[in-house]
Amino acid sequence: MNAITPPRTAPADHSPVAPLRQRGQHEVFCGLTSIIWLHRKVQDAFFLIVGSRTCAHLMQSAAGVMIFAEPRFGTAIIEERDLAGMADLHEELDRVVARLLARRPEIRMLVLVGSCPSEVIKLDLGKAAERLARLHAPATRVMHFSGSGIETTFTQGEDNFLASLARELPATDASAGPSLMVAGALPDVVEDQFRRIFDALGIGPVSFLPSRASTGLPPIGPGTRVLLAQPYLGEAARALEARGATVLSAPFPLGEEGTTAWLGAAAAAFGVEPGRFDAITKAGRRRAREAVARHRAELEGRRVFLFPDSQLEPSIARFLSREAGAEIVEIGSPYLHRQHLAGELALLSPGIPFSEGQDVDRQLDRCRAARPDLAVCGMGLANPLEAEGIATKWSIELVFTPVQGYEQAGDLAELFVRPLARRAALKLGA
Ligand code: SF4
Repeated sequence: MNAITPPRTAPADHSPVAPLRQRGQHEVFCGLTSIIWLHRKVQDAFFLIVGSRTCAHLMQSAAGVMIFAEPRFGTAIIEERDLAGMADLHEELDRVVARLLARRPEIRMLVLVGSCPSEVIKLDLGKAAERLARLHAPATRVMHFSGSGIETTFTQGEDNFLASLARELPATDASAGPSLMVAGALPDVVEDQFRRIFDALGIGPVSFLPSRASTGLPPIGPGTRVLLAQPYLGEAARALEARGATVLSAPFPLGEEGTTAWLGAAAAAFGVEPGRFDAITKAGRRRAREAVARHRAELEGRRVFLFPDSQLEPSIARFLSREAGAEIVEIGSPYLHRQHLAGELALLSPGIPFSEGQDVDRQLDRCRAARPDLAVCGMGLANPLEAEGIATKWSIELVFTPVQGYEQAGDLAELFVRPLARRAALKLGA
């Protein structure tokens, strides 16, 4: 049994936190999981995992319970004879891709997705993508990214995909004026709402990355201002900056406060008058506050422990504590990108314990000792914690559910109310 190690608390002056670093056993999904939401977003893309039967099973079982649309992903399975070096994997991959594109001519973007097995045998998917791009241009663009479980956590799949996409974007004309790019996959309904607000503020042109169609990739250049829609896009932000863009610093658009600060960062960069900003966002802010207020009674004073899983944890903690009145016991995050999270950390109470990285046994010990009302955690930890009487919320739901923006603030709060209500109902029925 591990001793319970107390995590560090954020300093009172909001200088970068020095969290407890956890370097133990991980308990997270791999980056392949991100294909489940990415393939729904980019509607003419196909994600071809180059992996093992395990990868195929993960995708089938994870996607099987979470999607209801015709999937646009598959697995090119590396067989034992491939691992034994008896087959030319590049030739086999070329054959698989040729068959796939002949059968599915509507595919405009083919994304080769690396896995643990493809990385272990050092299959160079970059080279494969270059070769296949030459073979299938101009009908199909071919690119690649790593979704392997050797990465930190499942949201890094999207980060790696967007970093790869950033390198494919066309350059803006030399004469191009300022433009705004929102980076991070958002549900279409949320994207449309934000587009309407930016239009009303007079901010534009506005593009979203990833775009809904790979044939409409937005241009990028020194005039591009990037607003990150997700906190886990460190690699993507670096790749966009390498193309000349400037990343705006802001909290993330969860809840009324986060959404206002996020929109406000764009408004400030585009010189929108404060009075105009206030007038345009006033109704949305009010609706968001009212929607969250309807759930506040169930969340106020509830003690919440956030296990490291999605990298959304600091933003969720900020929303739950500041807008819903919850008490945060500990915030764990697989990785803390201090620069992109500066806005979030400044809003968090200095007394909240932080941990970065994973050491699942120690974190479980601390959670059990604290006996929170709710644990936000990965799917693998939920059942054991529920069996011990602690209500849980899968953090992966936050990337599958529309939760960003004013109109979704109430739904975001409700996501955390449901497991508490279920547990209360179970207690009553016992
Ligand atoms: S990429 Fe690695 S962690 Fe993910 S399913 Fe395949 S083998 Fe497992």
